[in-house]
Amino acid sequence: MSGPIVVDSVVALRAQIRDWRQAGLKVAMVPTMGALHDGHISLVRIALEKADRCVVSIFVNPTQFAPTEDLDKYPRQLARDLNRLREAGAQLAFTPGVAEMYPTGFATKISVGGPSSGLETDFRPTFFEGVATVVAKLFLQATPDCAVFGEKDYQQLCVVRQLCRDLDLHVEIVGAPTVRDAHGLAMSSRNAYLNEAELVVARKLNVVLRQAAAQLATGADEASTMSGAAEALSSAGFRKVDYVAAREAMTLAPWRRGREGRLLAAAWLGATRLIDNVEVSPA
Ligand code: AMP
Repeated sequence: MSGPIVVDSVVALRAQIRDWRQAGLKVAMVPTMGALHDGHISLVRIALEKADRCVVSIFVNPTQFAPTEDLDKYPRQLARDLNRLREAGAQLAFTPGVAEMYPTGFATKISVGGPSSGLETDFRPTFFEGVATVVAKLFLQATPDCAVFGEKDYQQLCVVRQLCRDLDLHVEIVGAPTVRDAHGLAMSSRNAYLNEAELVVARKLNVVLRQAAAQLATGADEASTMSGAAEALSSAGFRKVDYVAAREAMTLAPWRRGREGRLLAAAWLGATRLIDNVEVSPA
């Protein structure tokens, strides 16, 4: 099987997509920051079920990193990524450099309200501006029919849906279930930062979240369940818990009992920040 066509300019990306469109083919997009793992590959598979062609962007987007964050050490492994995309059957990899996406003089930011308020934004105040701006650019560059995003980054998925709705971007957003290792740890490019001892602790995150979600679903008090979950994470070995919070599944407004919910958390292990979330069934 031949590998994906690799393009690093918007002009070449548009030319390839135009050819596919002229041939009547449907195009799906999977935006990523590379260091591809089975979670990303699951998105490619879903994309290929939804469309005839899949374009995967690989771009470590500097505007979604705060100056104190891990932009410089974020894993970059393009040759390995392209190999994984070949195995998965993606037809096009878009690998722009920073100057292609943000040429000198670039001066636009997209700020999404609604689901971006709270949670990640309380700790990474400029993160969703960076995400929304780059996703809007990718959609305008590639004009895909649909795009697949992981529920692993649940708040991001909600923000992208809001962005498309508000700006009439006309891209169907497909949410994909979180792929986990045998211990339930959500796959993440940042798991590569964890040592063996930290991995053991990291695997407790999903366990604590699932227990707390089960307690909520059987009527436990929300505030004490949340503080109990945060304490359980600290005793398991997490250095700091940024948040554990129950929200409405669609809007991320405060959760009301009897409604579809989502329990979301972010916590630190050494210098690595992990996020995860699970469903809360209506009690
Ligand atoms: P990233 O490269 O971390 O920006 O992620 C690119 C896309 O892959 C996003 O839509 C993520 O939500 C998704 N993703 C990351 N990890 C997982 C996972 N474990 N399972 C499913 N999707 C994931």
